[in-house]
Amino acid sequence: MLPNRPLNESLPLKFANGEQVRQFSKPCVSCGSMLHARNMHGVARLVEDHIAIAAKAHCPQCRTSFGVTCVIDCNKQVRRVILPRLLFNLYLRNLPVQDGERGPEQRLDEAAITPASPAAAPLPAGGELVARAEENVGRYQDRPIPAWIEVGGARLAFDRVAPDARIERGEYLLDGCLVYRSDSHPA
Ligand SMILES: [Zn+2]
Repeated sequence: MLPNRPLNESLPLKFANGEQVRQFSKPCVSCGSMLHARNMHGVARLVEDHIAIAAKAHCPQCRTSFGVTCVIDCNKQVRRVILPRLLFNLYLRNLPVQDGERGPEQRLDEAAITPASPAAAPLPAGGELVARAEENVGRYQDRPIPAWIEVGGARLAFDRVAPDARIERGEYLLDGCLVYRSDSHPA
């Protein structure tokens, strides 16, 4: 059986159609800080054409822990799994390793996918893939800053760099430091 481990050690995972998931992010259920794969401990497995995740997330900001169980399809749509996390976790850890999965020796570091943010009310609920503009407005820490991103079909424009990862309601934090917000500003 596979051990539980930080999910970033399982990434990236590659679907048969060539799509890849390089990062998971999910807002803390308590304080809304964006947690990343390294903050989630458990398993992320490729099961046929889905990625299944059963993990426990630990928020470094407020120390809250909560379960994360979901399935991501090859279009990067995220669905919650209703099974108890511990059962789902055991099931996933017992599956044989498939092609496309990475061994424990390989590591990840970046990109973004996923979910419902209590801190970002105008954004769609449910896990979402973040699409990035090809066009960049600059670089930060040697990485390009996409001019805009699309989260669940909503286009958000680059607003600023936030090295402290602080965002306001309705904003989206990309890569832990880039802040995006809707162009329209409802008063
Ligand atoms: Zn928190």
